[in-house]
Amino acid sequence: MRPTPQLLRAVGGAVQRQKSISFIGLGRMGSEMAYNLFSQTHVQTHGTTRFVVCDARETTSAAFAHNFTTQFPGAHIEIAHTPAEAVLASTTVVTMLPSSPHVRNVYVEEDGIIPALQSLTPEAISSTLCIDSTTLDVEVARGVAADVEGTGASMVDAPVSGGVSGAKAGTLSFLVGGRRNAYNLAYPFLTHMGQRVIYCGDSGAGLVAKICNNLILGVQQIAVAEAMLLGQKLGLDPKVLASVINSATGACWSSSVNNPVPGALTDKSPPCERDYDGGFATSLMLKDMGLATDLAGAVGSPLPMGQLAEKVYADVVSEDPELANKDFSSVYRYLRSAYPKK
Ligand code: NAD
Repeated sequence: MRPTPQLLRAVGGAVQRQKSISFIGLGRMGSEMAYNLFSQTHVQTHGTTRFVVCDARETTSAAFAHNFTTQFPGAHIEIAHTPAEAVLASTTVVTMLPSSPHVRNVYVEEDGIIPALQSLTPEAISSTLCIDSTTLDVEVARGVAADVEGTGASMVDAPVSGGVSGAKAGTLSFLVGGRRNAYNLAYPFLTHMGQRVIYCGDSGAGLVAKICNNLILGVQQIAVAEAMLLGQKLGLDPKVLASVINSATGACWSSSVNNPVPGALTDKSPPCERDYDGGFATSLMLKDMGLATDLAGAVGSPLPMGQLAEKVYADVVSEDPELANKDFSSVYRYLRSAYPKK
């Protein structure tokens, strides 16, 4: 790895590594998770912990650092320009990235975490813990974790359930895969960002659990969109229909929290109230449905509903590209406009 001036400065601060946490990927989820992790650690350690942020968009890192120091004057927060700098600065690194290529890029490639780890002393390497909360391909995650462990550091996959609202409220569920000792090391950090931390098994097991959960979610969100659309076409008020479903057997997170019809939930403000901005991007749900169909294909498990749902999300993204970056409940908007009114 070619050492940059910034990287050499980070190595110079190696004595601080133990009291430093880095967070890479400050998107819709990562920014909320990093805020909770940093603010709680800052208070608990009486301002003695250093925080480091890194994002492909440096303006995102700068905005986060500015907001954090505005809320916590005196907090020590720095911007890493590469993942290498982030791991050289801290013994604990959390990553929250879109998917497999981004995780490979951040861990494996030049200026990534693994080449930087290899430049450290054995003691510094063995005190390093990587927590990846990205939802990605299980085999890619297992390969990256094996490479991290090959250096002497520890790693867990810790994808999350609970959405942006859960990330903000600190009520996420973490589904963790990896060695028990790595899980034990990660546990206190995860409890600063979530309410439930579930050990699922060896490396990749957290991701298997997450992908199975999102398979259900992806199918349910389409079913709720279909039912809400059908009921309205037959003359029902969406508020009445939502309240019936939510007190009956059709109730699920997609109907009671992420209902896709503006005005249907009177006590909540799901992404449909903001033209489907924020939330969980349709392109990311399409990615997760693809991860589920790949896994099912690999082990020969039937997925008739999952395959249909994947096709619906693929149609949303290709036929109405504006919806790719909007919340996946916008499948309702797609269905409403894709089929002629009667
Ligand atoms: P996002 O696209 O909003 O954020 C990703 C962030 O990673 C962006 O800020 C991007 O600039 C940054 N990034 C990309 N490549 C990078 C690189 N090479 N180096 C540094 N930063 C890089 O995505 P999100 O909604 O926050 O989701 C993140 C992960 O969490 C995904 O795997 C998603 O499937 C999962 N997830 C999302 C939700 C949700 O509701 N949004 C819920 C559960 C799980």
